[in-house]
This record gives sequence, C-alpha cells and structure tokens, in this order.
Amino acid sequence: MQSFEQYVDGAFEAGSARFDSIDPATGKVWASMPEAREADVDRAVKAAEQALRTGAWPALTATARGKLLYKLADLVQANAAKLAELETRDTGKIIRETASQIAYVADYYRYYAGLADKIEGATLPIDKADMEVWTRREPIGVVAAIVPWNSQLFLAAVKIGPALAAGCTIVVKASEDGPAPLLEFARLVHEAGFPKGVVNILTGFGPRCGSALTKHPGVAHIAFTGGPSTAAQVVRNSAENLASTSLELGGKSPFVVFADADLESAANAQVAGIFAAAGQSCVAGSRLIVEASVKERFLSLLKAKAEAIRIGTPFDVATEVGPLCTRRQRDHIEKVVAASVDAGATLVTGGRAGDGEGFYYLPTILDCDGVKAASVETELFGPVLSVLSFNTEDEAVALANATPYGLASGVFTRSLGRAHRMVRRIRAGIVWINTYRAVSPIAPFGGYGQSGHGREGGLAAALDYTRTKTVWLRTADEPFPDPFVMR
Ligand code: NDP
Repeated sequence: MQSFEQYVDGAFEAGSARFDSIDPATGKVWASMPEAREADVDRAVKAAEQALRTGAWPALTATARGKLLYKLADLVQANAAKLAELETRDTGKIIRETASQIAYVADYYRYYAGLADKIEGATLPIDKADMEVWTRREPIGVVAAIVPWNSQLFLAAVKIGPALAAGCTIVVKASEDGPAPLLEFARLVHEAGFPKGVVNILTGFGPRCGSALTKHPGVAHIAFTGGPSTAAQVVRNSAENLASTSLELGGKSPFVVFADADLESAANAQVAGIFAAAGQSCVAGSRLIVEASVKERFLSLLKAKAEAIRIGTPFDVATEVGPLCTRRQRDHIEKVVAASVDAGATLVTGGRAGDGEGFYYLPTILDCDGVKAASVETELFGPVLSVLSFNTEDEAVALANATPYGLASGVFTRSLGRAHRMVRRIRAGIVWINTYRAVSPIAPFGGYGQSGHGREGGLAAALDYTRTKTVWLRTADEPFPDPFVMR
C-alpha cells in the first residue's frame, strides 16, 4: 500500500490522522492519506501568513516569482506521466485523459509565470494640480484553495498559478477523494525551490479541514471549486474572516443542436460533452436540446456512438469510459436515473451500473421530452444525457436557460447569424459554437447564477488575487492648506 504525506511550511509530514483511499476501478483500498485536522490547517495558514510577510518570498521581484513558476511548469511536464498514473489510480479517470490534461497543466503554470511581471498599477490623471496619484496591485494575502475530486491538478493550477504570480501565498485543500496527485505535486513545488510556507498542500474531510480553512482568520481569499451547497457553507464560513470568494460550481449545461448543423460532428461533440471523463465534468453538456425535425436522426447517431464506447480499466489506453470516482456517486446516479424513468423518461441506452467490480455506470441517454424528470434538473456528474426537443429558436433559448445554473453551453448550427443570436441570449459563462469542452489558460472560465462567480484562467484571474493600493503624493511646497476642508 502506498503512503502519502501533506506539505506544510516546506516540510512533508504524516498529518494528525490517516485515512484510506479507494481505487475506484476495484473498490479496494490502495493508499493511505494524511487527514489534516484543525491544528494542521492552523499551522498551514500561519506558515502561509509568515511567508507572505517575511523572508524570501515578499523580497522576490515579480520576474523572479515568474521564474519559479516556469521551473514548476517544467517539473510538472517532466513528471506528467507519474502524476497522470496517480490521478488515474486514485480517481478512476482514464489514463488517456489524465496524461494529456496534466501535460497541459504545465502550460497553465507557464501562462501565469509569464504574467507575474505584467500585473501593473496605473498612474491616474488626477483632477488636482498639486498631486501625483498612482495605484499598486498588491497580493491579496493568504489564499485558501479548495478543489473537488475531478481534475484536481488542473483545478489547483488555475488557483495556484495566478495566486503565486500575484505574490500571494496559498493553502490548498485537496478533495479527500483522490488526493494522491496533488500530494505528489507538492514534491515538485518543493523541488522548484519556492520558499517554505508559500505553498502548503493538505487533504482532509470537508466539514473539518475545509471548514477550518475557510473560517481561518488568516485567510484573505477563498478560491473554491465544488458543488453549490458546499459553496453556500463556504460563503457562510467566510462571514467569520470576511475573505473574498471566487466560486466555480456545478452546471446543467445545455447542448443545443439545430437542424442545419453538421449532425455527425455535433454527435461527436455531444459524446465528448457527456461521456468523456464518465461525465464527471462541471461543464458536462448534460441536457441535449435538439430541433424536433432531426431528433430521431440525431438520437440514433448518438445511441450508436454511446453503445460503441469502450468501457474498461482506466489504465488501458483503449478505454474511453472508466469508473466513477466513488461508490456514493454511482449510487446517486442510479437513484436519479430510476426516478426519471419512473416519472416517464424513456431509456434510449444504458441506465444501469457496469458489470463486475469498480464503480462503473454505463453511458446513458434518457429521452425526457414532455416529462418532468429529475435527470433534467439535477447535476449528476456522471455519464447521463437528458434529451429535450424544440421547434423554434425561442423555445431552444427558453429550454437552454431553464436552469438555475449557467456554467457552459454548446450551440451547433451552420448559420452564423443564429450562432451570434444564441451567444447573446444564453445565460452561461461559456458558449462553445460547433465545438465543446475546449479550455485554455488564456480563456476565462466561470459561471452565471448557481454556477458561481469569479473567473479562472486569463489575465483577470490574476487580478482577482490582488488588491489595489492608491498612493497620493502632494507635490506642492506650500504648507498643507485648510485642514477643515476635504481636498
Ligand atoms: P463538494 O462541493 O462536495 O466538495 C468540493 C470540495 O469542498 C472538496 O474538497 C470537499 O472536501 C470540500 N468541502 C466539503 N465540505 C466543506 C466545508 N464545509 N467547508 C469547506 N470545504 C468543504 O463537490 P464534489 O467534490 O462533490 O465535486 C463535484 C462538484 O464540483 C460538482 O458540483 C461539480 O460541478 C463541481 N465542479 C466545478 C468545476 C468548475 O470549475 N466550475 C470543476 C469541477 C467540479 P471533501 O472532499 O472532503 O468533502
């Protein structure tokens, strides 16, 4: 059995307690993890506070911080195979995806490495002749980063990268499900040579470790990715330290197919949107909204593709859909699919757990037209597609927006005008047109409504880790004028 350590104040340690990690492909324990409790969290935040204010980190130039991030990026790239193997083992995510995603994670660090010395203040054209006024962008402070189980290295990179570029220090809480790759990543942070306390990586259970971290008086900003109900708890916790928050939450993203679309291409994209990563993706295009005149044709294309998907062990490079990360997740999906069928949804394909050991669930398509099915409303975080149809563009828009979420969306059409109209009318942080599930460090990512607020990726994300200091300098030699009049 492998054993992992947490990383606090530049040292690797066993943690106050331990818990077992399960291999989702077998359902068996494969590793032992450190369980951080309140005292560990307190030490980590204090180490981050110390590193923020004293020692080598605040003395570094922004360019030097960028160089450390470049080094980290190179180390991630050099160790991508090992990190991918750990992520696949601990989360069940297929090796085909973890290998390519982790190699790309290195580019996120490179993007923010390059940005470190481009975060600028401004000189203001102030309306007073005897003043020079300028702004400085200073690090916001200690950041608490919390990530869910899927894509932990990726979701941590979009927080660690901009936070360090801005000069912050950070405490990262990995999900207790599948924390191995992030705990291993801590070794690369150490090797890159970041001063101690700048990056601290823990894992532990939400109610204890996550709560202690998000309430901690030393935390200035919380970067959270997870579900909306946990986010509400995190926001309540932030009432104690008044930390700012950025929330990347779930979705029930619409995938809209018009009759004029390239249906073969749209069907491939829909497969990527809902069956890749076994549907455990916040941007999963889990609601297919298809024009009625092509519904049957599109569904038969999709059914054939879904049934041809290779389900197997996540370490086989031929596997396209592996197990879900946890038994809890699979049981939840089973329940919602059963309730949807009871409510009148028609099973087009799938609809049951996979055979054998491991937390597998078959790629599933549910025709929910005219039915009030739970699968249409509930984020399942699994390989389950709910199908609805429309006759007019207005109906398509109404269905697309009929969700409290607003993370991503897809629109498939050959009409340029319609594509633009849909972009304006869909309430979501991302609109993919004739494509799906594309990401880049350069492109902002985040949601509307219950999908959260704040953006990750792009320049704006780095600015979220800064606060503005305004400096007033009086240039006049005369004495300070009338003290009883505001200037
Ligand atoms: P959760 O909200 O259950 O957990 C997310 C993280 O929060 C975990 O690390 C969890 O710890 C922690 N946590 C739990 N309770 C608390 C608490 N009281 N205080 C602080 N932290 C806490 O989400 P899931 O792990 O179930 O992940 C799936 C969700 O994440 C989905 O809704 C999905 O859409 C969303 N997601 C959003 C993305 C985006 O970028 N928009 C990307 C990926 C996923 P623990 O694991 O110990 O419970």
